[in-house]
Amino acid sequence: EKIFSGFSKTRENLAVVDELLLYWNLAETDRVLDELEEALLVSDFGPRISGKIVDSLRDDILSGKLKSGSEIKDALKKSVLDLLTSKSGKTELQLGYRKPAVIMVVGVNGGGKTTSLGKLANRLKNEGVKVLMAAGDTFRAAASDQLEVWAERTGSEIVVAQGDKTKASSVLSQAVKRGKEQGYDVVLCDTSGRLHTNFNLMEELVACKKAVAKVISGAPNEILLVLDGTTGLNMLPQAREFNEVVGITGLILTKLDGSARGGCVVSVVEELSIPVKFVGVGEGLDDLQPFDPEAFVEAIFS
Ligand code: GDP
Repeated sequence: EKIFSGFSKTRENLAVVDELLLYWNLAETDRVLDELEEALLVSDFGPRISGKIVDSLRDDILSGKLKSGSEIKDALKKSVLDLLTSKSGKTELQLGYRKPAVIMVVGVNGGGKTTSLGKLANRLKNEGVKVLMAAGDTFRAAASDQLEVWAERTGSEIVVAQGDKTKASSVLSQAVKRGKEQGYDVVLCDTSGRLHTNFNLMEELVACKKAVAKVISGAPNEILLVLDGTTGLNMLPQAREFNEVVGITGLILTKLDGSARGGCVVSVVEELSIPVKFVGVGEGLDDLQPFDPEAFVEAIFS
């Protein structure tokens, strides 16, 4: 329901498609597909994906495979669903068999990283998983206090920096060592928010990843990129940069309860072959949900 209301603007942009398809006939194909492409562009699908969707619909119309407006609409929904799922990999967390599993959460400032980490801790705890948090955002002064509040709310233990100059990589390394010694199932690592264009901070992320791998080979098991669902096309350059520097294994798409502009996530998933694993639908403990591609498509196109 929250996602459905969050996408009301996108749905409005795309509602024009329904009207067009209602009276569609073969002679009008070009005009209808041009308008459909325009509606997809306005909804932040980006030029490449919008073109791809429309081209494949055109082929299927001209070959006689799609014969009515409702068949075209169904094919449109299916093509978006396929783009979201076909080559993106598993949407469930992949935690491996070694304990503790390590999950790093990365992203630009304000996207919802710390909040998502808190909500993820809550989800895991509800499943009986023993969680340790690591306050690896040593750059923003209040970040570790904010994470301590989430640790308290979820009843999780937390490792924080000792002293002002502690490096993020050593906080994470300490946390993973403690996780290993004390039998934790999962260590959830926060990291500093950064602009994806900030070289020093991106280097710090690389150092964090290496520090964790030094304690447990194969870790981190997941590096989840948090993307603000209200930012539209900016998502794509962010995702490209983070993926190139640290290798992203999954996405958390936040603020879908707000005025979400989620079309762009289709481009991110398709271009980088990275699955959305969770969506954020509010600021409460229970407001992180596993990604449901079908519900997502229904919220945009129904
Ligand atoms: P960070 O800088 O990436 O760690 O971002 P924060 O976790 O501090 O979140 C920034 C703001 O976004 C805070 O006010 C959060 O409460 C809010 N926020 C995070 N996720 C969501 C969400 O899914 N929905 C809504 N409505 N707000 C969110």
